[in-house]
Amino acid sequence: MLFNCHTHSAHSHDAQAAIADLCETALKEGMAGFAVTDHCDCECADDPNAFSSLMDSYEDCRFYKKQYEDRLVIACGVEIGEALYDPSFAAKVIGARPWDVVLGSVHAVRFPGWEMPFSLIDFTAFSDEFIRSYLHVYFDDLKEMALTQDFDVLCHLTVPLRYICGKYGRRVDIEEYDGKIDEILKIVVDRDKTLEINTSGCTAERSLFMPDEAILDRYLAMGGSSLTVGSDAHTADRLANGLEQAQVMLKNRGITQLTYYLNRSPLSYSIE
Ligand SMILES: [Zn+2]
Ligand SMILES: [Zn+2]
Repeated sequence: MLFNCHTHSAHSHDAQAAIADLCETALKEGMAGFAVTDHCDCECADDPNAFSSLMDSYEDCRFYKKQYEDRLVIACGVEIGEALYDPSFAAKVIGARPWDVVLGSVHAVRFPGWEMPFSLIDFTAFSDEFIRSYLHVYFDDLKEMALTQDFDVLCHLTVPLRYICGKYGRRVDIEEYDGKIDEILKIVVDRDKTLEINTSGCTAERSLFMPDEAILDRYLAMGGSSLTVGSDAHTADRLANGLEQAQVMLKNRGITQLTYYLNRSPLSYSIE
């Protein structure tokens, strides 16, 4: 069974997928279902459409949830980004609808002068020292978010590395952050939250997960057992990207159950 807990529809500023197309792709791929989790980027809470576009996402998702109820499980969720920028806006969005799942993410860190999303920062010319400090702030922000904010699934842990290392070719010594990463994992376990295995970096040739297997193994070793898999699709053709690769990787670790959410309650499904 394949279930994708993290997708974006055209109600996200950076995505194009019509929910109808996500549904048809899910059927074609033989998937059991997916969650629509459009962006709530709290640094953009002042945008007059920020709130209404999420309510539109919810209504649109509800329509297709009903339409496909005998063929697919569709969860209507939201991805709360950088809730620390505006915790009251995050709480208002979460409280406004009976979401099935709330993802907790950080895409922009509270680094003075560089508070914009890291996808918009060119890391080419920064000193190694700047990048080190920047990453420390990312992990600090993610930790504070994990500790203080309302969410179900902690998403794409280590995602700035995709830009800093993947896009701009900078070298980062990830071990420097192991202590902070472990503190975040411990919070996920202690608060009974779920860790996402994000498969957006997977291609036909390579399996690249966020977080990576070393971090996943530490999560499992400290008693973490709840995991979702999400492709973070922004277009329908990416819906199933990496889901099977993730299941193979997880099965190799003896994992037989994964999690999805309805009514903000975790439910498990077998991958045996
Ligand atoms: Zn995200
Ligand atoms: Zn996302």
